[in-house]
Amino acid sequence: MIDFSKPRTRFAPSPTGYMHVGNLRTALYAYLASKSEGKDGTFILRVEDTDQERFVEGAMDVIYATLKEAGLNWDEGPDVGGDYGPYIQSDRKEIYREYAQKLIEQNDAYYCFCDKERLEEVKLVQKAAGALPKYDRHCLHLSKEEIEENLKNGVPYVIRQRIPDEGTVTFHDEIYGDIVVPCDTLDDQVLLKQDGFPTYNFANVIDDHLMGITTVIRGTEYLSSSPKYNLLYKAFGWEVPKYLHCPPVMKDATQKLSKRNGDASYQDLRAKGYLTEAILNYIALLGWSPKGENENTEIMTLEEMTRLFSIYDVSKSPAIFDINKLNYINGEYLRRMSPEKFLQEALPWIKKTVKREDIDFLTLAKALQPRCEVLGDIPEQVDFIDSMPDYDEALYTSKKMKTNPEVALEALKAMKPVLQSLTSFDAESLHDALFKLIEEKGVKNGIILWPLRVALSGKQFTPGGGIELADILGREETLKRIDMAINKLSK
Ligand code: GLU
Repeated sequence: MIDFSKPRTRFAPSPTGYMHVGNLRTALYAYLASKSEGKDGTFILRVEDTDQERFVEGAMDVIYATLKEAGLNWDEGPDVGGDYGPYIQSDRKEIYREYAQKLIEQNDAYYCFCDKERLEEVKLVQKAAGALPKYDRHCLHLSKEEIEENLKNGVPYVIRQRIPDEGTVTFHDEIYGDIVVPCDTLDDQVLLKQDGFPTYNFANVIDDHLMGITTVIRGTEYLSSSPKYNLLYKAFGWEVPKYLHCPPVMKDATQKLSKRNGDASYQDLRAKGYLTEAILNYIALLGWSPKGENENTEIMTLEEMTRLFSIYDVSKSPAIFDINKLNYINGEYLRRMSPEKFLQEALPWIKKTVKREDIDFLTLAKALQPRCEVLGDIPEQVDFIDSMPDYDEALYTSKKMKTNPEVALEALKAMKPVLQSLTSFDAESLHDALFKLIEEKGVKNGIILWPLRVALSGKQFTPGGGIELADILGREETLKRIDMAINKLSK
């Protein structure tokens, strides 16, 4: 009997060189299902490399690195071993052959020697007749002698599953409920290919059983094949594990996220400046959310998710990958960091456009932090620091601030001696001096602060206002830029 109180779940990627957010979500749910609610379950990594044509060199490294970065540590797998190995399917070829043989002996599978051309023809005829494309069972009726003769002559063959002629097969999915399928709609699918490798359809059943998997968690693309898997479990007399087919992650209302469409992979998102924790948090919500008293909790660490996750709360509806929501969550993670930690994350991005070393990086980080959603936005936000960009005088015009180039020129001329006379050039002194000037002049803050911001950055949107920018740039650079602005506006 399967002991569901000790969950054993697996993530079973094919090494195709890419981990899109849907794959990572499946891995996360499988991980959470094994560890949630205080269960001390086992999370297994199994490499499904039986499709040699799709194999991409180095792909396993991407998978290992992604899972490790995300903190989805596996208890059993190719590199760490375990009692149920090998964990790479290409190392298990003999096991599949043995079980396929067993099915042949039981009459639940048969050799098929049909070549590609014949199979194509059958398909075309069926298509023309409007029939379901299915293998026509030509080889099911071969005599024992014919089979032996073919094998002796080395005729290439596959082994096919023999689907019962009649009746129905029912299977249960934890999300989708009971699904009943008539056997005559199912194809005698290939279990073992000509190259001796098993198909996914065969290997997943053998491995999930032999590895003691209690809960199979995978994408809905496998939902329609699950009745055939159940027939295999039945043929072997094995208990069927729990199934959880996760809803697809969609790009929009009609298209699934996919590698072919160039949709975001975990690596792409990291390269754009999203944090691993935020990506993980966001993808957890693509099809699941905590229930009960934690219903409104959105920001969760892996540990918190582990506490709150239940496979029964996974939704049936497709989830749409919403970059704005990811941006929001990423921003939340950034804002919750200490300024020092934020600086550590932001520095590589700042350095993409800032080459000078004489600015106050921590002050810059503090100015960026409240306004930053994605680290990848930083280089553009700080591109004015090394040198002033060319800018249009019109930037000094602001209806809201009630200023224009003329008013700004006066303001800059007035603030120059004030700033020059400061003995210490920090945020507090700058603030006090400039607000004193504002008071003396009896003007609105914007009359002084807006021109300062434009003069120091040449931009409308900046990390922080004029005072913060002056603090970041320091005395010399600030005064230099004010002079440049006065010159520009005096022409
Ligand atoms: N190897 C399959 C894939 O990468 C995984 C299917 C499963 O989890 O059973 O799509």
